[in-house]
Amino acid sequence: VKISVLKERDEGGERRVALIPQVAEKLTPLGITFAMETGAGVASSYPDSAYKDVTFSPDRNALVADADIVLAVQPPTLETVKAMKPGAILIAFIYGRNNPDLVKALRDGKITCFAMELVPRISRAQAMDALSSQATLAGYYAVLMGAVHMPKILPMMTTAVGSLRAAQVLVMGLGVAGLQSLATAKRLGAITEGYDVRPETKEEAQSLGAKFVDTGVDATGQGGYARELTDDEKQKVRKALSDHIARSDLIVTTAAVPGKRAPRLIDAEQIKAMKPGAVIIDLGAEGGGNCEGTQAGQTVQVGPTTIVGPVNVPSMLAEQASELYSKNIMHLLQQIITKDKGLAPDFTDEVISGTALTHDGYITNDGIRTAVD
Ligand code: NAD
Repeated sequence: VKISVLKERDEGGERRVALIPQVAEKLTPLGITFAMETGAGVASSYPDSAYKDVTFSPDRNALVADADIVLAVQPPTLETVKAMKPGAILIAFIYGRNNPDLVKALRDGKITCFAMELVPRISRAQAMDALSSQATLAGYYAVLMGAVHMPKILPMMTTAVGSLRAAQVLVMGLGVAGLQSLATAKRLGAITEGYDVRPETKEEAQSLGAKFVDTGVDATGQGGYARELTDDEKQKVRKALSDHIARSDLIVTTAAVPGKRAPRLIDAEQIKAMKPGAVIIDLGAEGGGNCEGTQAGQTVQVGPTTIVGPVNVPSMLAEQASELYSKNIMHLLQQIITKDKGLAPDFTDEVISGTALTHDGYITNDGIRTAVD
């Protein structure tokens, strides 16, 4: 089985790579030969020389045309998809709803595409769950970004001239990223509070030493995700949260609802009431922002508050984000390639069929097919 690995495009600022040396070494015995685009791992601290038994070439189209499987982090260009041979496999993040032309090109090119964002969120697929592995790192890094933007420190500190108080940190949205933010803020010595619309997150927050802000709203949706709030619920939440927002030194927001714009958790009036020097790290920035005034990719000052809207946070931790992503892909490859059978994805397996976006000339994912066609 021939696998080619793309160098991510510079214009997107993506620093990650889909294959790290350790994973290449582990998979080679399965009968896989790897070829990579020259310098593919450099931005994530994996120079070409770190890869054993991998060939390198600067000719992307030739690499792609020769491959049974193409690996990438970001959605590839249409040109790259067109260079793939019919029946070949693509494994990358695709975000089909946002990239309908790409989905159609994959369909028309008879590419079997496994979209990493579609890996089912079930226990058996945890090792392949790249959304979780990347969100974990983003949640961690959000707190560090907050810490460097704050005019104060996170822990309590005793000095010769008196004690400095520990900072108040509020994390809104307690999925994978938010829980990691709570854990990180606690480790750095902050006093932590968490809030989510799924009541089961209360116990998770408390187990990380945080207080749970109970708004009395339960908006548990399908598959462990949240649903959108009604207007009444929004009012109720707003009322319950305003005081907590006003007394926070740092807020990390991570709220998301599948297929929807990021829910608005903090409005302009609440921002105005925050403490001077307060910081919001809005991890929802790419999805439209959890906060009024958030600008994706920018840091803005709104009244007393600095609002940071980072995009592609996992890429900022490219070395280990690549390590985890590459291992997620390794587990997927181990499902579809075996020593005896070679490359043979089993589409009766719910993880394989759930992750497939296109196959054999069809858009196999129902939701994306409806959205794209
Ligand atoms: P996500 O990125 O979709 O959303 C982040 C959080 O925002 C969620 O906790 C959601 O409840 C919350 N949210 C949405 N609207 C909100 C609002 N108005 N106010 C406050 N919070 C709001 O979430 P995720 O990190 O991808 O996790 C989604 C679910 O999947 C969770 O239940 C998680 O435990 C589950 N999960 C399961 C597995 C597994 O079993 N393998 C792996 C990963 C995640």
